[in-house]
Amino acid sequence: MEQDITTDLSVLESHLDGMLNRVQHNSHTLKRLQNFEMRLLGLTSLVDMIEFILCETKALFDLDVVSLCLIDTKNEIAGYLDVDNYDFKSREGLELVSSEGQWQNSFGLSYQPFLGSYQTTVCEQFFAESNQQKPASVVIAPLIRRDKYLGSLNLGSFHNERFIQGMATDFVEHIASIIGICLENNLNVETMRRTSLVDPLTGVNNRRFLEQRIEEELDRSQRTREPLSCLFLDIDFFKGINDRYGHQAGDHVLTVVAGLIKKLLRNNDVLARYGGEEFVALLSQSDENTASEIAERIRLSIANLQLIYADQAMPVTISIGVATYQPNRALKKQVAEIALQLIQTADAALYEAKRKGRNRVESGGLVLRLESE
Ligand code: GH3
Ligand code: MG
Ligand code: MG
Repeated sequence: MEQDITTDLSVLESHLDGMLNRVQHNSHTLKRLQNFEMRLLGLTSLVDMIEFILCETKALFDLDVVSLCLIDTKNEIAGYLDVDNYDFKSREGLELVSSEGQWQNSFGLSYQPFLGSYQTTVCEQFFAESNQQKPASVVIAPLIRRDKYLGSLNLGSFHNERFIQGMATDFVEHIASIIGICLENNLNVETMRRTSLVDPLTGVNNRRFLEQRIEEELDRSQRTREPLSCLFLDIDFFKGINDRYGHQAGDHVLTVVAGLIKKLLRNNDVLARYGGEEFVALLSQSDENTASEIAERIRLSIANLQLIYADQAMPVTISIGVATYQPNRALKKQVAEIALQLIQTADAALYEAKRKGRNRVESGGLVLRLESE
């Protein structure tokens, strides 16, 4: 009898130990999950969010493989990542997908994750990395917001038993829904950031963008000691084009001219629509001669354009003013002043080009040197 009670007690104690261990383990996991969520919710850029998910989810769930598929039907995400110089094509684990077909086929519109052993037909597209060992068991959790697929979070383990059908998925579903919210937020922010800096008619940047970038470019120029040139471009007799061919034809001219200028600049040069038919370009690492040559090339290409709108040929020419900043030891706080001088000098040179008959390039030379030099 005494023996029985002692045995019972030790069995109970060992159950209790087991339960206490599980409670401790669960509370630890819960804390890590909360910490993961707090950090995720605090991220304010798409790139940071992608990197965080790819790196931290692995540790959170102790996984061998994590991948993130994002639906990008209009190439918007690719565009946002490009602007941030994020090399998404070679980022292992990240895949931008042009259609949501694979989700519709695999899930219908279900919030329920797919869970179980790796089946090539279902899973291959979600774990596309060719140089990586394929997981043995997986969870593929759809990311859905407002009944719309945004992509999926894909978790894999090299152990067959890690994810088996019928297992509870509430943790993963929870994480997927938080990621869905963060993704939607960050995409909205990126869209706003982009549309607020782009001119809707021509698709080139607007004046606000230029005002932000010119100071960054001047900072860089001072750091690298390389010159920065500014072109002020203005379409000649544009009012006449509107009057003769109509406002829509004028809009068409603006769009074509902007596209052509953009094409003739380097990728990292800045082009902004400054006002009605006026554009400003910033050419990094370009001295006065180089900038004048580029300006001349633009002028010539536009003069040679065979622009036709509604069966009517429209001759278009442009005048360009050039100004160059040669880095000196000016203090950082003077950058705003230099920016103003650079644009004013290019504008004055443009005025000179107009005065001398239009369809020409004039250089205003170097912007005034400052007293700290
Ligand atoms: P100049 O050779 O001296 O530069 O003469 P201009 O006619 O080009 O210059 P002006 O400043 O007199 O006229 C600019 C015109 O640009 C007037 C305005 O109606 C037109 N404009 C401004 N924004 C737009 C636009 O978005 N679309 C169209 N179609 N026209 C615009
Ligand atoms: Mg004009
Ligand atoms: Mg003008």
